[in-house]
Amino acid sequence: MIKENIVQIRENIEAACVRAGRNSKEVTLIAVSKTKPAAMMEEAFEMGIRDFGENKVQEILAKQPVLPDDVRFHMIGHLQSNKIRQVLGKTVLIHSVDSIGLAEQIQAEAEKRDLYVDVLLEVNVANEDSKYGFSSKEVEDAIRKIKNFTHIHIIGLMTIAPFVENPEENRKVFKELYQLYVDIKTKNIDNVIMSALSMGMTGDYEIAIEEGATMIRVGTGIFGTR
Ligand SMILES: *Cc1c(COP(=O)(O)O)cnc(C)c1O
Repeated sequence: MIKENIVQIRENIEAACVRAGRNSKEVTLIAVSKTKPAAMMEEAFEMGIRDFGENKVQEILAKQPVLPDDVRFHMIGHLQSNKIRQVLGKTVLIHSVDSIGLAEQIQAEAEKRDLYVDVLLEVNVANEDSKYGFSSKEVEDAIRKIKNFTHIHIIGLMTIAPFVENPEENRKVFKELYQLYVDIKTKNIDNVIMSALSMGMTGDYEIAIEEGATMIRVGTGIFGTR
């Protein structure tokens, strides 16, 4: 099923890009493999998937040794400070920098180890109590602080949209994050690139692409229910 799912999702990505007048090369499909065994990830790997999303550091550490070297792990879940030391150097991108304090701790550990860490700032666009992240209003201030951290590069923004019955309801969330992304990009803030916009999951990735996503995070749609 995994192979068929990936074929279907790629077709959907392509169609969404056509509707939006975008090139599908701008969109990276991240296969969210949390809770799923490495054997299932290998099936996706055979289909050309190299980017995998995980929300637990322990799972990244367990899976990385058994998967091919060119697998790229994305940390997409809330990062606890006591896990920073273990995760640094294991991921291509941390999508979930959700506080200045976390950025400070990543900076301190990265400096100690002489590592440079690419991150996205997580934005709680819909202001849900249950979600981590900066509010849309706080993001620019946060960027202006974190840009001074020598071992962190902010390369974009991420959001987890609300769970909704009809994915169209999330279009406004994606529009708002895209606008924020463009506004910040336009300001050309030093040491801040703004080249990645991570939004859209199984239920709403096509809409996220129509609204400008450059990374979509699809779990259930590839690997089945968790
Ligand atoms: C689990 C998860 C996903 C994938 O969700 P699906 O609905 O299974 O596609 C995407 N992003 C984050 C941050 C997640 O935790």
